[in-house]
Amino acid sequence: MAHDYEQMWKDLGLDLAAHDALLQVLGKGYEDIFLSQSDRPQGMDYFNFVMSEVHGLRIKELMEEKKAGRKVIGSYCVFVPEEIVRATDSTLVGLCAGADFATEEVERLLPRNTCSLIKSAFGFKLGKVCPYVESSDMIVGENTCDGKKKSYEILDTLVPNLYVMDLPQMKSNEGHALLKGEYFRFKEAIEGLTGVTIDATRLRKGIEIVNNKRKAIHRLSELRRADPVPIFGLDALLINQVSFYDDPIRFTESVNKICDELEVRVREGKGGCPQGTPRILLSGCPMVVPNWKLPWIIEQSGAVIVGEESCVGERGIRNLTDDSGAALDELMEAIVDRYFKIDCAVFTPNPDRLEHVKQMYADYRGNGVIHYGLQFCQPYQIESLPVEKVLEESGIPTLRVDTDYSMEDVEQIKTRVEAFVERIGMSTCSACHFSLS
Ligand code: SF4
Ligand code: SF4
Repeated sequence: MAHDYEQMWKDLGLDLAAHDALLQVLGKGYEDIFLSQSDRPQGMDYFNFVMSEVHGLRIKELMEEKKAGRKVIGSYCVFVPEEIVRATDSTLVGLCAGADFATEEVERLLPRNTCSLIKSAFGFKLGKVCPYVESSDMIVGENTCDGKKKSYEILDTLVPNLYVMDLPQMKSNEGHALLKGEYFRFKEAIEGLTGVTIDATRLRKGIEIVNNKRKAIHRLSELRRADPVPIFGLDALLINQVSFYDDPIRFTESVNKICDELEVRVREGKGGCPQGTPRILLSGCPMVVPNWKLPWIIEQSGAVIVGEESCVGERGIRNLTDDSGAALDELMEAIVDRYFKIDCAVFTPNPDRLEHVKQMYADYRGNGVIHYGLQFCQPYQIESLPVEKVLEESGIPTLRVDTDYSMEDVEQIKTRVEAFVERIGMSTCSACHFSLS
C-alpha cells in the first residue's frame, strides 16, 4: 500500500527512507498497544483504518481537496477556531507530534530543555516525515507558552507560510478584547488565503459542523461514566486524537456509530473492562499521536481511564459555540466567548481548571487522578502542584507523573502507577460507591 503513496510523499518533499522507518515504528507500536487489547468495540475498526491510512489515504484526500481549490490549515493549539476555517470549506489539521524525531538536528535549533511536544513538532519538520506540515497552505502558530511563542520565531525560518496568532494570558476584559481582535484578524487572513468571503450563513454552517463533532465526543464521554466502562481509555483517547486529522463529518458519524454500540454494552452491563476496575481521570498536558506511553502503562496496571482533562480530550471540546446569532458579528462574538472559556494552564490565574478537574472526577466517578506533565512544560508542571494539593485536600487520591516521549522511564513510572492503582483499588472496594446507572 505504501508503494501507492510513494509518489505523493515524494512530491510533498518527504524523506522516504526516514518516513518509512517512522511508519514501521508507529505500525508496530499500534499493533502492540491497540490491536492486542481484548473485547474492543467493533466500531474501533474504523479508527484502526484511519490510523493505518493516516499518512496515506487521508493525505490523498487532502491533496484532492487542494486540487479542487480548497485549503488546508495546520495548527498546534485548540485555540485556533476551526469554525472560521470550515466556513471557507477549508480543513483544519493538527500538527503536534507525539514522538521524538531528528533529535540531534532539533537540538541545534532549540535548547535541550524544551518540552517534547515542541521538539517533536520541529523533529517532524526537520526530518521531513510529516505530510500534514507539508500539505498545509497556512501553518498557524499561537502565543501560548513561552516555549511555543519563541520557537515560532525559528519555525518561521523553516516554513514559508507561518501565521502567528496572539493570545491573551489573563481572563480579563482586555484579554477578551485581544482574543476578539485576533479572531477577526484570523478571519481576514483565511478569507485572503481562500478567496472566500465569510458571511453569517457560511459561519453558521462551520459552527454546526464543529459543534456536531464536539457533541459526538460528549456522547462518548457520557458513556464512559458507566461501570463497567464500555470502552478502554486508550481507545477513547485514540478517537480524540483522530479528531485532529479526520474529515469532521465522517468522524462525527463514526463516533456516533460507536456510541450506538457502546449504549448496548452499557444497557447489558458488559463489554470493555470488568465492573469495579479502578477508574482514573487523566489530567494535564495534551497527548497526541503516538504518545500512548502513560495511558498504556495505566491500563496495563489494571485500571481504566474514564476521562481526559486535556486539550486532546475534554478541555478541547467542552463547550459548544452558540449558533443562534443572526448576524456575522454575533456569531464571531459567540466564537470568541466559546474559546475564551478554555482553561489552558498558560492563563494566570487559572481557577476554572481546578474546578473542572474536580467536576470531571465526580462526573466520571473516578477513584483517582493522574496528573501528566511533560518535562520542561512550565505552565502544566507548575500548575500540577496546586492541582495535587487541592485534590488531596478534597480526599481525591492524586499521582503526579512528569515524563517525556522517551521510553527510558517506563519501568519507573510503571512501579509508581501500579502502587497508585493498588492504593485506589483498595479504597474502591471499601467505599463501593459505584453502581450501574
Ligand atoms: S494546552 Fe494550551 S497551548 Fe496546548 S493545545 Fe491546549 S490550549 Fe493550546
Ligand atoms: S506541553 Fe507545555 S511547554 Fe509544551 S507546548 Fe504545551 S504548554 Fe508549551
